[in-house]
Amino acid sequence: MIRFRPDHLKAVVDAAEDAYPVECCGLLVGRRGAGSTAEVTRLAPSPNLAASRERFEIDPGLFLRLHKELEGGGESIVGLYHSHPDYPSQPSPRDLDAAWDAELIWVIVSVRRGQAIHVTAHALDAGLSQFHEIPLRTIDGSPAASGAILERG
Ligand SMILES: [Zn+2]
Repeated sequence: MIRFRPDHLKAVVDAAEDAYPVECCGLLVGRRGAGSTAEVTRLAPSPNLAASRERFEIDPGLFLRLHKELEGGGESIVGLYHSHPDYPSQPSPRDLDAAWDAELIWVIVSVRRGQAIHVTAHALDAGLSQFHEIPLRTIDGSPAASGAILERG
């Protein structure tokens, strides 16, 4: 399970819509629990260096800076997020190819015609051979259950 503050989850959704029709991307900083569980404490948005609607590339400098900054503290990079313009919120074959760390949780926002419609979270098996969906929740218990998009006014 991955847990978000509602404003953080909203910021991820907004980034996905703002970037449309290109993919957005960024890193998730937080605290890990047992297994594939984590609580997000901070978002670290990245420019999509690929500037593509079919793939994303997180700024490697962002990784390095965060690693250095978080070293020795209670927080770490727990995952990443990106969007799927006009594509379901399931990891694509390209995502699986690109997966490099079995510890990281992938959060994917599906955007259709500029509107975010679905957010899901996925963990990897140790061999990086497949993703499996995990629950995504908000910390205050509001009903942004797995697979649901935030209510908006
Ligand atoms: Zn993807």
